[in-house]
Amino acid sequence: MPPETMPHQTLSEKSFLEDTAKALKDPQLRRNFKRAMSGLVAKRRNVFPNASEFEGLREQASAVRRKTLSRLPELLELLEFNCERNGIRVHWAETTEEANRIVLDIANEAEVRLAVKGKSMVSEEMGLNAFLEEHGIEAIESDLGEYIIQVDKELPSHIIMPAIHKNLEEISKLFQEKVDSNSTSETAEEMTATARKILRKKFHDADMGLSGVNFAVAETGTLCLVENEGNGRFCTTLPKIHVALMGIEKVVESLQDLPPLLTTLTGSATGQPITTYFNMISGPRREGEKDGPHEVHLVLLDNGRSKMYEDELLRETLLCIRCGACMNHCPVYTRIGGHAYNTVYPGPIGKILTPQIKGIENAGYLANASSLCGACVEVCPVQIPITEILLRLRHNWTHQNKKRHWTDKNRLELLIWNGWKQVFSKPGLYRIQAGLLGRLGNLLPKQTPILSRWARFRSLPRFSKKSLHRLVEEEGIDHE
Ligand code: SF4
Repeated sequence: MPPETMPHQTLSEKSFLEDTAKALKDPQLRRNFKRAMSGLVAKRRNVFPNASEFEGLREQASAVRRKTLSRLPELLELLEFNCERNGIRVHWAETTEEANRIVLDIANEAEVRLAVKGKSMVSEEMGLNAFLEEHGIEAIESDLGEYIIQVDKELPSHIIMPAIHKNLEEISKLFQEKVDSNSTSETAEEMTATARKILRKKFHDADMGLSGVNFAVAETGTLCLVENEGNGRFCTTLPKIHVALMGIEKVVESLQDLPPLLTTLTGSATGQPITTYFNMISGPRREGEKDGPHEVHLVLLDNGRSKMYEDELLRETLLCIRCGACMNHCPVYTRIGGHAYNTVYPGPIGKILTPQIKGIENAGYLANASSLCGACVEVCPVQIPITEILLRLRHNWTHQNKKRHWTDKNRLELLIWNGWKQVFSKPGLYRIQAGLLGRLGNLLPKQTPILSRWARFRSLPRFSKKSLHRLVEEEGIDHE
């Protein structure tokens, strides 16, 4: 069946809050996520059983990424030089519109009508499928998870497992309704066989293969692709044209840089020591070779990345290797799932990446959807200080939206913070309020307008009759 246009993203704090509330009320969705995330967390734990060994690996992976970032402009030029030397045509795109146009021009020149796609988050960022479809080109997803959500006209709910929000029964129903009405597919194996039959024909008929890039090696001009299904290899080998899509941060200097990144990527993403396929693409088919595309193109997408690069802290966002571990461990993501964010990148990485790509004024609210527990920071294989970046983005969001302070809701918030500032900056006042709270705090009725919403899901703390200051004094401890 032909692919259908994905829904366009509409970023708004209001719809985010509404979708979050809806997701929290969907017990099936929560069960699906809980089961899937617990499984991924356990697999990751099994592959990294030794905490100090994992720390060592993280150090190595992080060092490689930091070294790369420190020389990013220079390495990108080296990558371009060596790719071109290998016969790979390199295109630079500042925006997603430019990147889409480049892909379309390549397709039009070769009169492409059908393209097969491997998994690529950059293509999601570009909204490439919908764009190509608008221009009469069918782009079909060949990664099984991506294929499932394309059939159901959904966005990915996870960067590694795009259809993780669905359970087996839901997918089986979808296959019977939308893929093959004669299908009696019920098991994962049967459904995979059905999809494979359809996709094999598409691979055979397609004129263009599209793929992402996990890492590109500057010194050798090699594009590396990590995958488990073999569909990536089909996309990059069978059609006469291969177009690889890559964010500019995915470059590494040399082949020696790859092992720590690969080990931490596969272990953090799927709990595998290594994936089934690791493709290294170093150019189009050469004379005498029996397979491979006749043309290979590399599209390097900026889309806000250069701007992130300018700031020392925000630049760390570019360390990301898209493993998804931060999402699997995030108490917010695991409860609301990926769709509530309505962004290409959900979860902790999405909360720091999306406001920087889409603009703080459009998506800064996402930085508030975090408890700042730091679970994401603990598991991130390249040590991105996600919580620090979140705090910076919150700060930027607040300053960008000064007007927000004058809405009714925020006037009250402002009043509370101003009161807090006064009390905490004047020792005398602080002592009086501490004494009052110690005596009267426990009598506060739970149903006051300010407390009732907060206390709906929490127990009010008990105020101590004596302040810490007083207790320390009574114990005779020197506290100056
Ligand atoms: S932020 Fe870290 S944990 Fe999250 S996807 Fe990126 S590399 Fe993985």
